[in-house]
Amino acid sequence: MNLDETAEDAGFRAEIRAWLADHVAPATGSTPTFAERHAFDRALAQAGYLGRSWPTAFGGAGAGPVQASILDEECARVGFPRAQSPSRFGVDLLSPALFAHATREQQDEVLPPIRRAETLWCQGFSEPEAGSDLANVQSFADDRGEHLALSGSKIWTTQAHEAEWCFALVRTDRHAPRHHNLSFVLFRMDQPGISIRPIRQATGEAEFNELYFDDVRVEHRHVIGGLGQGWRVAMTVTGAERSYGQLSRFRTYTAQLGQIAAMVRESSSERRVSWERTLGSLAADLTGIRDASYKILSLAAAGESLESLPSIVKLWWSTTHQRLMDLGSDIAAETDGDLEFWNTEWLRSRAESIYAGTSQVQRNIIAERMLGLPK
Ligand SMILES: Cc1cc2nc3c(=O)[nH]c(=O)nc-3n(C[C@H](O)[C@H](O)[C@H](O)COP(=O)(O)OP(=O)(O)OC[C@H]3O[C@@H](n4cnc5c(N)ncnc54)[C@H](O)[C@@H]3O)c2cc1C
Repeated sequence: MNLDETAEDAGFRAEIRAWLADHVAPATGSTPTFAERHAFDRALAQAGYLGRSWPTAFGGAGAGPVQASILDEECARVGFPRAQSPSRFGVDLLSPALFAHATREQQDEVLPPIRRAETLWCQGFSEPEAGSDLANVQSFADDRGEHLALSGSKIWTTQAHEAEWCFALVRTDRHAPRHHNLSFVLFRMDQPGISIRPIRQATGEAEFNELYFDDVRVEHRHVIGGLGQGWRVAMTVTGAERSYGQLSRFRTYTAQLGQIAAMVRESSSERRVSWERTLGSLAADLTGIRDASYKILSLAAAGESLESLPSIVKLWWSTTHQRLMDLGSDIAAETDGDLEFWNTEWLRSRAESIYAGTSQVQRNIIAERMLGLPK
């Protein structure tokens, strides 16, 4: 595997670095607010960088996954990783499903405002009885002829209180077998029948919500892939969710490793040697995550199957980052480090082994699909 960038990719990295230097104020160390992240998305869109990997017919540059990843990595370097971007649900999760499964009319209606960062989306998959077992969703969209009427509830819906649109997996058939009774639908969030209740997290923030639907109108033209065909559309979304933004995570976590190393350097604690050993082990893990992420990129750029690699890398980055945050908060507590910052990041990192598929689910995928172990 050749890890050198082509002249074109290196040129793109230099271009985006120059653009970021002109458009982003130097990082202050605090996490940008939702409004700041959304403004950054809009600036990226205006400069033609959002959805750059999309086909030119939809306003993209037809750039491959390598340049999308370079963009993400460079944005993370200045504090704006895609994994925290308000536009990510539309640009990174929904658009691959639309390119794969939607009609041209649906693509023409939905994709352009996503690329301009004009419409923000939320992902209505999880329900109280359907998290890891996603096919068990119970929210039901009843076909009333002219339109569908959706009733039920969703939970853990990130940025539902900010989003104009929702893409959701819902049941549309009471009798068809499992996986054949589901549809993938789009609907506006500002219509009658939708109640949004924020859920406060351990960090004190309320980034996600409970949603309640009472006869919510879903247009037939907003069913993607056809009635009863929602499972394969949802699988494209979950595949994209596991695969995007990995090098920016490497970039963010490496910067945090550097911050922790600086705390260790300034400390005269007796535990210094043991901290240095843990730092070394974490640095090795991060290097492995980077290399496996490069492997995913190479396969994606060559149009080859990623198989279980995204699950391996998702499991690896989430558990490594949790160990990194254990160390950061531990050292900050014993030194003059910013304990509030490290404790908040520690709390945030707990969610990483849950969203985008829990660690146990990733292990099941690796065991069954890669190692061929029995269920
Ligand atoms: C920060 C955050 C943001 C989120 N945002 C969204 C969002 O925007 N939209 C959305 O739809 N969802 C979102 N989620 C929900 C997330 O997708 C679910 O929490 C996740 O899929 C797990 O589902 P669950 O919480 O119902 O846990 P469960 O599925 O009930 O799992 C409970 C425990 O059992 C284990 N388990 C379950 N099944 C198996 C199995 N077959 N084998 C072994 N172990 C198993 C799990 O690993 C877990 O430890 C978010 C979650 C978090 C934490």
